Amino acid sequence: MRCGAKYKANELRKEWNGLIVCPTCFETRQPQDLIKGRPDNPSVPFSVPRDPQDPIGTPVVIPPYGSNLL
Ligand SMILES: [Zn+2]
Repeated sequence: MRCGAKYKANELRKEWNGLIVCPTCFETRQPQDLIKGRPDNPSVPFSVPRDPQDPIGTPVVIPPYGSNLL
């Protein structure tokens, strides 16, 4: 019972949680209750192992604009 008003038993409805309520108070289950989480996979698609002889990495040299060094 939610509102306390008097109803005949055949007018009452049963909710998903077992509560027996009047037609005015009747609520369907919140659809968001049924959503399942999906775990994240934050890993990168592939990776290159670090070179122990060069842990910082060799800087990339970008040729000046307009040069034909590429
Ligand atoms: Zn009610």
